[in-house]
Amino acid sequence: MPRVITQACIGVKDAACTQVCPVDCIHPRPDEADYANVDQLFINPNDCIDCGACESVCPVNAIYPLEDVPEDLKSFIEKNANYYKK
Ligand code: SF4
Ligand code: SF4
Repeated sequence: MPRVITQACIGVKDAACTQVCPVDCIHPRPDEADYANVDQLFINPNDCIDCGACESVCPVNAIYPLEDVPEDLKSFIEKNANYYKK
Protein backbone atom coordinates (compact mmCIF):
# COMPACT_ATOMS: atom_id res chain seq x y z
CA MET A 1 0.00 0.00 0.00
CA PRO A 2 1.42 3.38 -0.95
CA ARG A 3 1.85 6.58 1.00
CA VAL A 4 -0.37 9.52 -0.03
CA ILE A 5 0.41 13.27 -0.06
CA THR A 6 -2.48 15.38 1.21
CA GLN A 7 -3.74 18.95 1.72
CA ALA A 8 -0.92 20.23 3.93
CA CYS A 9 1.58 20.03 1.07
CA ILE A 10 -0.37 22.64 -0.91
CA GLY A 11 1.58 25.87 -0.94
CA VAL A 12 4.57 24.30 0.85
CA LYS A 13 5.88 21.98 -1.85
CA ASP A 14 9.41 22.09 -0.43
CA ALA A 15 10.32 18.74 -2.02
CA ALA A 16 12.08 17.41 1.08
CA CYS A 17 10.33 14.10 0.44
CA THR A 18 11.76 13.76 -3.05
CA GLN A 19 15.28 13.78 -1.63
CA VAL A 20 14.75 10.73 0.56
CA CYS A 21 12.53 8.52 -1.60
CA PRO A 22 14.60 5.43 -2.52
CA VAL A 23 12.56 4.70 -5.65
CA ASP A 24 12.07 8.26 -6.98
CA CYS A 25 8.28 7.93 -7.02
CA ILE A 26 7.43 11.47 -5.82
CA HIS A 27 6.90 14.02 -8.57
CA PRO A 28 7.20 16.55 -9.97
CA ARG A 29 10.63 17.27 -8.50
CA PRO A 30 11.81 20.91 -8.62
CA ASP A 31 14.09 20.02 -11.54
CA GLU A 32 11.13 18.82 -13.61
CA ALA A 33 9.21 21.17 -15.88
CA ASP A 34 5.83 20.36 -14.37
CA TYR A 35 6.88 21.54 -10.89
CA ALA A 36 5.71 25.11 -11.53
CA ASN A 37 2.28 23.92 -12.65
CA VAL A 38 1.21 21.91 -9.61
CA ASP A 39 -0.05 23.00 -6.19
CA GLN A 40 1.43 19.98 -4.42
CA LEU A 41 3.58 16.91 -5.05
CA PHE A 42 2.23 13.43 -5.72
CA ILE A 43 3.28 9.87 -4.92
CA ASN A 44 3.04 7.27 -7.67
CA PRO A 45 0.97 4.51 -6.02
CA ASN A 46 2.33 1.88 -8.41
CA ASP A 47 5.97 2.50 -7.51
CA CYS A 48 5.85 3.43 -3.81
CA ILE A 49 7.32 0.68 -1.61
CA ASP A 50 5.73 2.15 1.53
CA CYS A 51 9.07 2.65 3.32
CA GLY A 52 7.90 5.74 5.21
CA ALA A 53 11.03 7.81 4.60
CA CYS A 54 9.05 10.66 3.05
CA GLU A 55 6.58 10.79 5.92
CA SER A 56 9.45 11.23 8.39
CA VAL A 57 10.89 14.31 6.69
CA CYS A 58 7.71 16.16 5.72
CA PRO A 59 7.68 19.42 7.73
CA VAL A 60 3.88 19.69 7.66
CA ASN A 61 2.86 16.04 8.14
CA ALA A 62 1.14 15.93 4.78
CA ILE A 63 1.97 12.27 4.09
CA TYR A 64 -0.06 9.31 5.32
CA PRO A 65 -0.07 5.58 4.73
CA LEU A 66 -3.04 4.86 2.45
CA GLU A 67 -4.94 3.04 5.18
CA ASP A 68 -4.53 5.97 7.60
CA VAL A 69 -5.63 8.84 5.36
CA PRO A 70 -8.20 10.81 7.40
CA GLU A 71 -11.76 10.72 6.11
CA ASP A 72 -11.77 14.38 5.05
CA LEU A 73 -8.58 13.89 3.03
CA LYS A 74 -9.54 10.74 1.16
CA SER A 75 -9.97 12.61 -2.13
CA PHE A 76 -6.18 12.98 -2.17
CA ILE A 77 -5.79 9.25 -2.76
CA GLU A 78 -7.28 9.70 -6.21
CA LYS A 79 -5.55 13.06 -6.72
CA ASN A 80 -2.13 11.44 -6.25
CA ALA A 81 -2.97 8.53 -8.57
CA ASN A 82 -4.47 10.80 -11.22
CA TYR A 83 -1.24 12.72 -11.63
CA TYR A 84 0.35 9.59 -13.06
CA LYS A 85 -2.50 8.87 -15.47
CA LYS A 86 -1.71 11.87 -17.62
S1 SF4 B 1 6.90 5.70 1.35
FE1 SF4 B 1 9.04 5.45 0.62
S2 SF4 B 1 8.80 4.71 -1.46
FE2 SF4 B 1 6.83 5.58 -0.88
S3 SF4 B 1 6.89 7.70 -1.59
FE3 SF4 B 1 7.57 7.69 0.53
S4 SF4 B 1 9.80 7.54 0.43
FE4 SF4 B 1 9.00 6.93 -1.59
S1 SF4 C 1 7.95 16.98 2.24
FE1 SF4 C 1 5.76 17.32 2.63
S2 SF4 C 1 5.41 19.50 2.20
FE2 SF4 C 1 7.39 18.93 1.32
S3 SF4 C 1 6.87 18.44 -0.81
FE3 SF4 C 1 6.87 16.53 0.32
S4 SF4 C 1 4.74 16.25 0.96
FE4 SF4 C 1 4.96 18.37 0.33
